Amino acid sequence: MTRPIRVAIIGSGPSGIYAADALAAQEDVAVSVDIIDRLPSPFGLVRYGVAPDHLSIRSVRDTLDKVLDLANVRFIGNVEVGRDLSLPDLRRFYDAILLTYGASRDRSLGIPGEDLTGSIAATDFVNWYTGHPDTPPDAFAEFLSTATQVAIIGVGNVAVDVTRILVKAPGEIEHTDMPQHVFDALRASTVTDVHIIGRRGPAQATWTTKELRELGELEEAEVIIESDADASDAASQSAMATGKVVARNVAVIEEWSQRPPRDARRRIHLHFRRRPREISGDVGVEQITLERTQIDEDGRAHGTGDLSTLAVDAVIRSVGYRGTPVDGIPFDDTRNVIPNAEGRVIDGGSPIPGVYVAGWIKRGPTGIIGTNKKDAVQTVGHLLTDAADANFRTAAQPEESAVDAFLASVTVVDVPGWRRIDSAERALGATRGRDRTTLHDRAQLLDAASGVTPD
Ligand code: NAP
Repeated sequence: MTRPIRVAIIGSGPSGIYAADALAAQEDVAVSVDIIDRLPSPFGLVRYGVAPDHLSIRSVRDTLDKVLDLANVRFIGNVEVGRDLSLPDLRRFYDAILLTYGASRDRSLGIPGEDLTGSIAATDFVNWYTGHPDTPPDAFAEFLSTATQVAIIGVGNVAVDVTRILVKAPGEIEHTDMPQHVFDALRASTVTDVHIIGRRGPAQATWTTKELRELGELEEAEVIIESDADASDAASQSAMATGKVVARNVAVIEEWSQRPPRDARRRIHLHFRRRPREISGDVGVEQITLERTQIDEDGRAHGTGDLSTLAVDAVIRSVGYRGTPVDGIPFDDTRNVIPNAEGRVIDGGSPIPGVYVAGWIKRGPTGIIGTNKKDAVQTVGHLLTDAADANFRTAAQPEESAVDAFLASVTVVDVPGWRRIDSAERALGATRGRDRTTLHDRAQLLDAASGVTPD
């Protein structure tokens, strides 16, 4: 009997887990799947990206978690490719490598002052409030205890998430799974005004209506439309005519502009048709210079030379995520993705046998969680087609135990270890009447995985 094909999935976010599910669920080809993640816990952006107050989206993790129970799927957490395992190592142990490690870094604005103290990548702030083990607990202590005016650059769903987390009342977040230090810092936060800055108009924003609407429904914050929310230009009209979401977004903003002032404790200011030109200040961020833009018929923004400044204590750059390369695999530096044809990794125009890609590192950082399911299924379809080739089984050491022996000196978190982390987080949450409190410290996560109760 031929042995199962051995597949290593690198990254346990939604695309990795959906790919594992698609591989494990089919019966045509016998497979054995190892999902390898550098973090001790699975689920990637579902755990460290989806905002803690979006409970229904976060609950996707219950669906993803079921995949880890499948007999032919293993989780190998706390193992980093490039540190604990190299690409040649993976080639020795697996017939196929499926890269699903996402896009975890921030895109740069490319303007002066971007690196000043108080200029913050949204990706870092999101990591902090979701309890990512790489972000120190006090990373934003000074910002949150001193800043009152904050600018957020970008008008996508991450900008909306960050804004909501900054202005929500304690009662609106206390039921979430945020680490306790995050909740405490947000509860004591001095931030009163968040300025969301879009370089184009409301019809060109990438946020979705449900998420946008939430900003107008907050207990302690009101929305104020500051500049150029007009959508009567040709490009905006055309976008509204062809896109229901665009039309709804514009309608939401239009309705907000009619609302009487509420004298709320916190304010969300929307600035459209303003592009950032410079972040400045003596020691840290003191102001941001914006240039008014005009939108052409194709919806592109052009500077008008009309500059203004906004006095702010911090700038959060929320202009999209960026994928990064991995040693030995081709990389497209323009799109920040791994070049591929429907998930088969391409080098010099031809597929590299046995190497695949899915999720954000395949197509770029767009779409909702569910988008990754279709995307992963497409890649897995090609992998299974290729597996029909007699030469597909290439692993020099085809036994599961070979990789285990290789990793003997690494503290690996397996599925039972993850279940112990899960139980520890639920137990910690129960002490404060919550479903869960996220453990943020890597040592604590590893202790919990090995059965040590966290303090
Ligand atoms: P995004 O939707 O791509 O938004 C990026 C924003 O940054 C856009 O408004 C973009 O404007 C702006 N931008 C880019 N470069 C800029 C520059 N140099 N100067 C000024 N503005 C600039 O990215 P995201 O918000 O990071 O979200 C990533 C993905 O995750 C999206 O697909 C999003 O829907 C998804 N997500 C979903 C949820 C949810 O469903 N609840 C939550 C969070 C994230 P232009 O359009 O003009 O380039």
